[in-house]
Amino acid sequence: MATPDSTTPFAATKKCPHCGRWTEWQQRPTDRCQHCGQELEPHRAAADEHRQQQADAPLSDRLMLIEIKPDDNPVIKFFKYIIRGGQLAFGALMAFFVWLVTVAAG
Ligand SMILES: [Zn+2]
Repeated sequence: MATPDSTTPFAATKKCPHCGRWTEWQQRPTDRCQHCGQELEPHRAAADEHRQQQADAPLSDRLMLIEIKPDDNPVIKFFKYIIRGGQLAFGALMAFFVWLVTVAAG
């Protein structure tokens, strides 16, 4: 199975989701239909873009901490703080266990 980034010598064909005709493609998310010029995998292209955005995201986002927006409902905010507290506590607990194992291993 080829990775999306590798260039494959084999010309694959894919049925275009837009015009329904078969077109050659290099199995890359940015490949476009030979007939209508639309992206063959708009979902995957969007997913790649999303992944790129996540890579640029601040640390709190990469830690998957729940986002608390300033305009959130106070009740929602309250619950989000609880969830976030749980996430942080879990992270601290994990760090503690890592420390414990390190110390125990001498
Ligand atoms: Zn097409």
